[in-house]
Amino acid sequence: MATDLYEILGVKKDASDKDIKSAYRKLALKWHPDKHKGDKEAEKKFKEINAAYEILSDKQKRNQYDTFGTAGGQAGAGFGGGAQGFDFSNFDFGGGGGFADIFETFFGGAARGGSTAGSARRSGKMRGSDIETTINVSFEEAVFGTEKELEITKAAKCDNCNGTSIEPGSKMIKCSSCDGKGQVNSVRNTILGQVKTTHVCDMCDGTGNVPEKKCTVCHGSSRVRKKERVKVKIPAGVDNGSTIRLSGNGEAGIKGGPNGDLYLNLQVKPSKIYVRSGSDIHTELPLHLVQAVLGDEKEVETLYGPMKIKIPPGTQDGKVFKLSGKGVPRIGGNGTGDHLVKVRIEIPKKLSKKEKELYGELAQEANLDLKKGGFW
Ligand SMILES: [Zn+2]
Ligand SMILES: [Zn+2]
Repeated sequence: MATDLYEILGVKKDASDKDIKSAYRKLALKWHPDKHKGDKEAEKKFKEINAAYEILSDKQKRNQYDTFGTAGGQAGAGFGGGAQGFDFSNFDFGGGGGFADIFETFFGGAARGGSTAGSARRSGKMRGSDIETTINVSFEEAVFGTEKELEITKAAKCDNCNGTSIEPGSKMIKCSSCDGKGQVNSVRNTILGQVKTTHVCDMCDGTGNVPEKKCTVCHGSSRVRKKERVKVKIPAGVDNGSTIRLSGNGEAGIKGGPNGDLYLNLQVKPSKIYVRSGSDIHTELPLHLVQAVLGDEKEVETLYGPMKIKIPPGTQDGKVFKLSGKGVPRIGGNGTGDHLVKVRIEIPKKLSKKEKELYGELAQEANLDLKKGGFW
């Protein structure tokens, strides 16, 4: 069987990690064997979905697949597939765990906090938890992008043992609890006779080996809590509430498991000058009545520096001048929004004697027969 992995998940070739994860989640829920008991087709489908996700969610595997996957020839090298693509019938889920285990393992990342499912537990390997935190940026930084450095306190890989939990130089010795078998048998007496059960050895997590000496720094946990500085590139065009994911920058995996991710929720400080809506910028331009009537030229502040606007004679209140391309860059290089300048005509509240006279003349000129409340 040769199939395109992207097709299986129903995503485009350039889908983001997030898209892939989301597509996978939907499909996995839909085809989960618990919902299709005894349905062989559904089971096959579920396996395909998981296999596709296992590869496409892993940067390196995805790269390899993109390069060799459907090109043939090399396809077998990485994944045990056929010459034309992937043979899912060969896909092995690590055995014994059953579907529930697979499901939990794959969802370990989403569960924010890691999972201790099935085969993962057996080797002691676990994915590190995700970390979520807030990062503050100025209005302009969000518009033009920036680089930030932040300090995160997290469970990080122990440097002394390099995350193995074994004291450097210490040998691996046979687990005494299971005598190196990785499993222990226990016998229970019941009314039906003796019942023998086998379970994974707790001492060695089923590996059959234990280090002679645990790491003296992390005491065998493989991690230590410490502060780490993280550099973050914030792309131009992000907005308040945007989230940036730094893959692998969450808490360190346990005993060689993958790291969690770091999620940064952006909090953008509002501007005193600009109002932003999406990629557009809005400002108001107050004009004296006479400027609107007779026309003028005004300088306005834009994100890109001051710009002159020609005010034609007879400009109405509420008129919007569009400064094309002077808004916010759209994420992904999709052009730039506009800056919209809205005219607000200000009616003078206090008039000098001379002004009163002039307005009076205007009233006569316009044949306005001003009643009480007029100036004379
Ligand atoms: Zn053991
Ligand atoms: Zn250590």
